[in-house]
Amino acid sequence: MAGDEALAAAVRAGTDAQWFVAGHARQPETRLRERTAIMTEALKAAEPHIRAAIYAELGNEHHVIFTEDGWTVEHSVECRLSGHMHECGYFTAASLVADEYRPVMAGRWKITGVDSQGRAALEREEATHA
Ligand SMILES: [Zn+2]
Repeated sequence: MAGDEALAAAVRAGTDAQWFVAGHARQPETRLRERTAIMTEALKAAEPHIRAAIYAELGNEHHVIFTEDGWTVEHSVECRLSGHMHECGYFTAASLVADEYRPVMAGRWKITGVDSQGRAALEREEATHA
């Protein structure tokens, strides 16, 4: 249902965008403003659905990768798009478990949550084979 509305909004936005470009030079100023407002509303309506589709396609999870040289966090798509990756709580949570690194932990782990002590809960995804 919501996806259908998003698709309809996106189609309207695309149609309006074509109309806008094709008719730009001929239209009175007030009509241009009205069409721009319609396009803006259509894109705003579609935005959460487009965002959800991006997360569904690319995944929206945090991972931590342990190597013998150290560890790194792979931030989620949402985190990367937010502009607040430098304040990411998952990074702090991962740092608390990274102190306990052992060679058997080498590989990629999904961060499934943060426990009551602020530590990352991890689920192994890929082991690194030496
Ligand atoms: Zn993050």
